[in-house]
Amino acid sequence: METPEPDIDSLMGQKSLEKLSACLHKSAIPHALLFSGPDSAGKEMAARLFAMACNCELGSAEKNPPSEYGGLLLQASCDCLSCRKISRGNHPDIHNVKAGGSTAKIIRIDRIRELCGTLAMKPYEARIRFAVISQAGSMNPEAANALLKMLEEPPARTVLILIADRASDLLPTIVSRCQEVRFHPLAQERMHRLLTEKYGFSSRDAEIMTLLSQGNLSDIPKEEKEKQRQIRLRDWLLRVMEETIIPETDPPLPGSLLLLAEKLLQKKRDTEICLNILSHWLRDLLICHYNPAKVLNRDMADHLADISVKTTIPSLLSKIRAVESARKSLQSNANPRLSLEVMMLRLAAKEEHA
Ligand SMILES: [Zn+2]
Repeated sequence: METPEPDIDSLMGQKSLEKLSACLHKSAIPHALLFSGPDSAGKEMAARLFAMACNCELGSAEKNPPSEYGGLLLQASCDCLSCRKISRGNHPDIHNVKAGGSTAKIIRIDRIRELCGTLAMKPYEARIRFAVISQAGSMNPEAANALLKMLEEPPARTVLILIADRASDLLPTIVSRCQEVRFHPLAQERMHRLLTEKYGFSSRDAEIMTLLSQGNLSDIPKEEKEKQRQIRLRDWLLRVMEETIIPETDPPLPGSLLLLAEKLLQKKRDTEICLNILSHWLRDLLICHYNPAKVLNRDMADHLADISVKTTIPSLLSKIRAVESARKSLQSNANPRLSLEVMMLRLAAKEEHA
């Protein structure tokens, strides 16, 4: 069975699966579902498993009570003809719509019209036919309106699944006609266990990578070399930050800080990683003032406790605000250089007066 394992792993423990299993058990399958959540949370795989469960010849999922761990996840190993076809992507009644073609990243009206035409006919063999629209937020307004018409008069024996990062990416009139199922990044403990037990990471590497990826399994580097590079990046960044901003110098050392901003700008992915590293580190220094046992960077717990005494709570809070505001401006496409330089100078400053 061609099952991309990382997707299945991302689904472990997702409450959303329990919700879908419950629909199946109650035979109350909605006409339209919206799967929302981060990219790597396994939404596409969940759509496939749900389609398999609704059409399974052996009723595999129905035999298992809804649960976060079992239930729908067990459907992946079903070997009936219908499940095999869906799993291989060659079932005639499972339709996938994705952004793409010459105008990448936009779903245009002709694609939705084509889907409406297909769904106006009877399903070939499925008990319940599925249409899955990935990156549904990339429908242009005409396409979205055409889809809205279909949602108003849903075709028989058909479930429409829209997949998007956020419900707010879609027209509110579309969202209101769908039942939303939310997916989440993996919890820290679960991700750590997965990386050590299944991927053979050392405990320290697993802890660091869990923090760097913020629970997104697809952000974990596949190659050992890249993994080690990211770990070195973290060790280097924290060493430099410690030398530069703790204890707080007055005036700060703008030269070295601007140089650091420059280095973080070189790779976009590194900028994101470094902001994650910084916010976890500052958060840990703050936590050390209250309960050192609760730090997230557990491999450096003792050292964090030692240096946190050189910091003050108000100053750490203002540094955390500096990192968060840089993150927000980068997300809203502000000038990256300016955002990072301002962040660095704010990090070096003593407590800011709000
Ligand atoms: Zn089956």
